[in-house]
Amino acid sequence: MKLTLTVCDVCQDQDKPANSYEIRRLDDGATANPDLCDEHAAPLEALFATDVPKPKPQKATTSKTKATRPKTAAVRRRDIQVKTMEDIEREKAERA
Ligand SMILES: [Zn+2]
Repeated sequence: MKLTLTVCDVCQDQDKPANSYEIRRLDDGATANPDLCDEHAAPLEALFATDVPKPKPQKATTSKTKATRPKTAAVRRRDIQVKTMEDIEREKAERA
């Protein structure tokens, strides 16, 4: 007959039932598999017990505020007069 007994890693009390845990540290992926009795697993069990509210799905903000366009985007060409060399020469000739 083979009897396996899981005892708490901390107190190693054979009279206390121990649970096996698997913990992974996300930063470096290090894992730990402690066996802990109820007493020493209390901090971990507290995590399971906490009724963590699920994050509410964020409503897509349907704000109709228009994206303010930079006013410099539309360059006014109205004031720009494009003169060719021929125009300039002709104006010179008219002035003369
Ligand atoms: Zn213990």
